[in-house]
Amino acid sequence: MDKTLAIIKPDATKKRIIGKIIERIEAEGFTIARMKLVHLTKDEAKGFYIVHKEKGFYDSLTEFMSSGPVVIMVLEAENAVRLWRDAMGATDPALAKPGTIRHAHGFSIERNATHGSDARETAEWEIDYFFKK
Ligand code: ATP
Ligand code: MG
Repeated sequence: MDKTLAIIKPDATKKRIIGKIIERIEAEGFTIARMKLVHLTKDEAKGFYIVHKEKGFYDSLTEFMSSGPVVIMVLEAENAVRLWRDAMGATDPALAKPGTIRHAHGFSIERNATHGSDARETAEWEIDYFFKK
C-alpha cells in the first residue's frame, strides 16, 4: 500500500483541532499506520525541512514548527501522496479550494495546519526521518 507522511502543525494543535483533522483523514479512507505527538526541537525541524534551507522562510518555518506540539502520522492508502495533498489543498490557505483542510483551518502560507509529502521518494525519506528505529 502507498504511504505518505502527514503532520498536524503547531497552529492546528494549538487550536485543538487534532480530532477534526484525524476525522477527515479517516473519512478520506486512510489507515493510520503510525502516529506520535511530539514537540520538535529547532534542529529536528531544520533537519526535516533541509530541502528549504536556502529559502528566506527557513528560519521562521523551523521556529514555527518547533513552537509547540505536532502530530506526526504515516498514512496508508492507494495513491496516498496525491490523496492527502488533495485533502490539504494549496500551500497558501488563501488559494486553497473550499472543502480543503487548509481552506478551513490554515492561517497563513506558513501556518497552514498540515504537512504532506510531495512524492513517493520524499514520503519514504520523511517516514524514515521520524519513525526509523
Ligand atoms: P508541506 O511541505 O508542509 O506539505 P507544501 O509542500 O505545500 O507544504 P512547501 O513548498 O514544501 O509546501 O513548503 C513547506 C512549508 O514551508 C509550507 O507548508 C509552509 O508551512 C512553509 N512555506 C512555504 N512557502 C512559504 C513562504 N513563501 N513563506 C513562509 N512559509 C512558507
Ligand atoms: Mg512540501
